[in-house]
Formats: sequence, C-alpha cells, structure tokens
Amino acid sequence: VDKNSQRLTIAIQKSGRLSKESIALLQACGFKFSLHEARLLAHSSNQPVDLLRVRDDDIPGLVMDGVVDLGLVGENVLEEVRLERQALNLACSVQRLRALDFGQCRLSIAVPKEEGYRGVQDLEGKRIATTYPYLLQNYLKQQGVNASNAILTGSVEVAPRAGLADAVCDLVSTGATLEANGLVEKEVIFRSQAQLIQRPEPLSAAKQAIIDQLLPRIDGVQMARE
Ligand code: ATP
Ligand code: ZN
Repeated sequence: VDKNSQRLTIAIQKSGRLSKESIALLQACGFKFSLHEARLLAHSSNQPVDLLRVRDDDIPGLVMDGVVDLGLVGENVLEEVRLERQALNLACSVQRLRALDFGQCRLSIAVPKEEGYRGVQDLEGKRIATTYPYLLQNYLKQQGVNASNAILTGSVEVAPRAGLADAVCDLVSTGATLEANGLVEKEVIFRSQAQLIQRPEPLSAAKQAIIDQLLPRIDGVQMARE
C-alpha cells in the first residue's frame, strides 16, 4: 500500500462474520467495487477508494500504524489490539468515527455446567482459555481476581473438556456453541459491535472530502434500517 496514494484505503475483513455487511454498507453508501475472491485489494470503479481485505485481527494495527486510512472492525478486536499494543509501547490510537449496526456479540466467561459457580471470585487461581488475553486480564484485574490465561486462537470452547483450562472466555451470540460443549455463560465482560475507525493523523484534503461525504451516507443507511 502506497502511503502517499491519493486513494482512500479501507480495510475490511476478507472472509468472516463482518465481511458481507461491511461490503454491503460501503456499496449502500455509493461505492462500486468488483470483488475477486482471491485478491487482497479491490479498487472502486467510481471513487478514488480501495478496499484492503485482510484478517479482522490485522485491521486495528493497520489503522493505528497509518498503513490504511479507515477500517471496519469489531470493538472486541479493536480493544484487544489496543490493550496489547499499549502494553508493547506501539502506536495504539485511532479515531472512532461511527458505531455500525452489525457484528453484535459479547465476550463472556463460561464454566462447565457441572461446576458450582457463585461469582467471579470462584475464578481465583483458575485457568481460563481465551483468544482475548488482554480483555480478559483487564476484566479480572478490575474484579480483583487472579487467574491465568490459556491462549488459543481457536477451539476455545473445547478447552475445559480437553483438560486445558477450567473455564473459557469466548465470543457469544446465541449461546448454542457453549451449550453444545456443556458450558454455561456466567459473566459478560465486553459487549461489541462493528466500528468504523480512522488513522490518527490528519488526511489529505482529497481523502477527508470522501470521508465527509461517506459519514452522512452511513448515518442515512443506518437510520433507514432502524
Ligand atoms: P478472521 O479469519 O478474519 O480472523 P475470525 O474467525 O477471527 O476471522 P469471525 O468469526 O468471522 O472472526 O468474527 C469476526 C468478528 O465478528 C468478531 O470479532 C466479532 O466482532 C463479530 N462477531 C462474532 N460473533 C458474531 C456473531 N455471532 N454475529 C455477528 N458478529 C459476530
Ligand atoms: Zn480473527
């Protein structure tokens, strides 16, 4: 990606739960894209705008580092990356432009259903499997509980049965996955939805003009859906 390009670059999730709605929103705002499945970059045919399609985990860092101008990403991933980069002394500021009306989910702690659970203090000394170690530790610290992380990038919900952890901290929407694995949701630690974020430094006048046109369109699209 050419940082000096006059084309506005927007990072979106390549394939996953945010992809369809991210593209649909940008299209509803008037940007035309022809997407080729294999391509990382998609040029708009009617605006000086490019889409960069990546893993959702990479989006906050790309925006914080100013590699791309805008990103559409879940608040859960945004906050996890922010806490991680803060701990590592890396650039971690972004401008939050809009909360978007999709990608709703929650990050919760769940325990095996046969475990007695009276409250968060019962997690003391336990090991909790998660993909969100920073959000989890941030929450436990606020609660005054000491528990360790078992960091997994997937299959978190099978960790207790596999003997890897005593509990899990995972994203929940319906709760069906927890249920299927004999787990019961006990604490909601973070509520999330998709966000539109912008790199911290000011943009060129040309790029800013596109954003000034985009934001009221997003508001209009979301208002019409309410
Ligand atoms: P990637 O390959 O891009 O890393 P992923 O497997 O990490 O994908 P997805 O499962 O596609 O991620 O979820 C992407 C984001 O969608 C989550 O981080 C969260 O913000 C949101 N999300 C999670 N669960 C749901 C859900 N059930 N409904 C809507 N949005 C969700
Ligand atoms: Zn991801």
